Amino acid sequence: MELSLVIPVYNEEKIIDELMQRTIPALESITSDYELIVVDDGSTDSSIEKLLLFREGNGKIKILSLSKNFGHQAAYTAGLEHSTGNIVAMMDGDLQDPPELLPEMYRMITGGDYDIVSGRKTARKGRSGRIMYAWLFHLFFRHIGEIKNMENSGNYSMMSREAVDALLMMKEKVRYLPGLRTFIGFRQGYLDFVRDDRFRGKPKMSMAKLYLLAADAVFSFSRFPIRFCMFLGTIGTLVFMGAGLYVVVAKVCGFAVLGWSSTLLSIYFLGSIQLVFMGMLGEYVYRSYKESQNRPVYFIRKRYDTTPGE
Ligand code: UDP
Ligand code: MG
Repeated sequence: MELSLVIPVYNEEKIIDELMQRTIPALESITSDYELIVVDDGSTDSSIEKLLLFREGNGKIKILSLSKNFGHQAAYTAGLEHSTGNIVAMMDGDLQDPPELLPEMYRMITGGDYDIVSGRKTARKGRSGRIMYAWLFHLFFRHIGEIKNMENSGNYSMMSREAVDALLMMKEKVRYLPGLRTFIGFRQGYLDFVRDDRFRGKPKMSMAKLYLLAADAVFSFSRFPIRFCMFLGTIGTLVFMGAGLYVVVAKVCGFAVLGWSSTLLSIYFLGSIQLVFMGMLGEYVYRSYKESQNRPVYFIRKRYDTTPGE
């Protein structure tokens, strides 16, 4: 198998026709030796029926149907683990990542200069709230993330078999694939593009899901939260040591004011800071708990992936 393309799909019945009509020709223009792995992430609409219809006409379309909605990072993982191509691509199923870029990505990899090519968004079209959100995330992550050059690349990418295998060797349960993909090294290239608005339908990643994904990225690829606790804790201790000294001096010299406001304020302040820190520590505890549970990141309900004649 020369080329695998993985697309996660969650309740995208309105888009599938257009998605196939644009994606298949893009793949055909590269090679006829391809597989298109569509991962149905527990859709509850008619996505799966539509996909099966396309599969009847084209056996190169393979469908993995997950047992429930696991989230798109898990769906991508399922698709990547089942891919057999020498070169493997990942693409969102809502046509925000234009399939027409695939041939160029393929050229960059087979040209021999790169093992991984990621789509880099030079601009985004679509809902301004989400654009703002993405911008803020990348701004924050640029400063605190321990992996560099991930900026403005998302899931859209193409990788050599060696790179995919490396990516899949990382078995962590909390998965942020764009981060992992940058982390593994290899020769990374970028292909600039303007990210379209989704073709139709509502985003399937809610703002809450996007927030959790951003939290996964931050906690997996930076020490910032825990360092920040240390930093504030140290500053706080110094300030209150100074204040304590002042109180003693004031008492001894007899100019202490009978006040409750400063006491109350410091209690509030310390209390709330402690809550924040406990929350952050909780994140780490929760994440190591998740890893130690060692549950699979997805389950497959049904595979439609035998090629005719097998
Ligand atoms: N998706 C999925 N599972 C989910 C949410 C989304 O497989 O739980 C798919 C969705 O069908 C789409 C892709 O992941 O193909 C990206 O989702 P979306 O467009 O909602 O995310 P965004 O573009 O906002 O990152
Ligand atoms: Mg989208």
